[in-house]
This record gives sequence, structure tokens and C-alpha cells, in this order.
Amino acid sequence: MMGKNHAAMGLAIGSGVGVLVCGVNTVEWLVVGAAASGAALLPDFDTTDSTIASAFGFIGSWAANKIGSLAGGHRKATHSLLAVGLVFLLFLGGDLLGVSAIFFGILLALGWRALSGFMWGLRRFYILVGVLGGIYFAHVRLLNAWGLALAVALGYAIHLLGDLLTSGGVPLLWPKPRREALPIFGNTGGIGESIFGIGLFIVTVIGGFIWYGHHIPSVVTPTQVHQSALAHSGLYVVHLISNIEHAKWFGGWLRDLTSIKPKLK
Ligand SMILES: [Zn+2]
Repeated sequence: MMGKNHAAMGLAIGSGVGVLVCGVNTVEWLVVGAAASGAALLPDFDTTDSTIASAFGFIGSWAANKIGSLAGGHRKATHSLLAVGLVFLLFLGGDLLGVSAIFFGILLALGWRALSGFMWGLRRFYILVGVLGGIYFAHVRLLNAWGLALAVALGYAIHLLGDLLTSGGVPLLWPKPRREALPIFGNTGGIGESIFGIGLFIVTVIGGFIWYGHHIPSVVTPTQVHQSALAHSGLYVVHLISNIEHAKWFGGWLRDLTSIKPKLK
């Protein structure tokens, strides 16, 4: 499955689970959705030909080569239930080390960058979005350690589900070599997953706007003044840079930060 479709699945399912677990009158579900969207790119860090490896330039290629050879190749150890557990522990450990906000900022930037495949004019803002998101997370601390690690594990598992729906399948029970597959989308990069990905993204964005219109006022309670102020500013920044005119204005000095080619993984 292509990176942007993995990210769209992570955002949609992550946001849905976030609403179910945290409630619709919160902004926590957005954090769950954003974290799951970025985490849904992590398993393909086993190949240089992936959205996530390209996000880190030559360091990404170097790391992807290392991870790929450790994992036994593409769609091997990284695409297993064992890897879901390891990533959960890694992010739980990250909280003990006090780097959760950095982890969240990176995931947000990765998700944004991958989803920019659906919104071309916004692709250059991923570093800015990640930095703002990381600062926001550090200040408001909407999810505890378990919450963030679970959101990441969910996003990671959503990637495995996405690949399971393509003809390559995934070795869920690695180190057993047998691959599970339910190839309703056929080969990776096919028309089926492209329609699915963009449809899911549009539905999620419309849902987000409806939520923004209806629920932001109820997020603002006297006891949450600073939180809601930050929530408002964060969402307003996203709103601002969603405006293509602002995008062009900002783009002048941020243009060289990115150059993204479509990736199949
Ligand atoms: Zn994959």
C-alpha cells in the first residue's frame, strides 16, 4: 500500500478510535488520529523506497538499509505482531526518557508529509506542523504515556492491515514465514487503494470540519482555559496554512525544505 494511503487509514481509524475512547468533546482524539497517521508509516522503514525513509533524506536511506538488513528484508520482521509490541514498548520508554513530545512532533510531521499527497500545496509545511505540534503536546500533555504508546501501536497495526489487503500480504506471525493476505486492493499502488485512500481522507477532513464547527466551543471550559487557548491557536495555525494564499506566502522561504516524489510504500 502507498504511504499516503497508509497515513489516510491511520488518520481515519485512529481518529475514530480516539473519539470512541476519549469522547467527541475533547481534542485528545485529534492527537490519537495524528499519532496513528504518522505511526502508520513506520513499518516501511525497512526499505529505502518508502515515504518514511525519504522524509529523512540520506540519513533515512542509511537507517532504512540498516533496519531492512536487521529485519531480513522488506515486509518481514517489521510487518509482524511482534513489531507492534516492540514499537509500543519503544514509545512507552520514550515517555520515561521525557521525549514523548519529540516523538509526537515527528509522527505528526510524517503523517502531514504523507497526507500532503492529497493536498499538494501543503506539503512544504510538514516540519513547521511537526514543531508546532510537538510544542503543543509538550505544553498541554493531552495523552499520557500509555495513551500515546497505544495510539502509535494502533497506527502501526493499521499499516499491517493496509498491506494485508494487498496481494503481497504480511508475515503477521514472523519469524514464521507464512504471509497472511486478503488482497481486495490487488497490487500495491493500484486504482483500488487510490480511490479508497482519497475517499477516506476526504471523509475524515469533512468530519474534522464538522467537529470543529460543533465541538470547539464545548472544549472551552473555565478550567481548561489555557488548554483550549492552545487548542484554538494550534487549530487556527492549521486553518491559516490551509489557505493557499498563505501557503504561497510561507512557501517562499520554506520551499527548499522539501521535495517529495510519490512513493509506493
Ligand atoms: Zn508495508
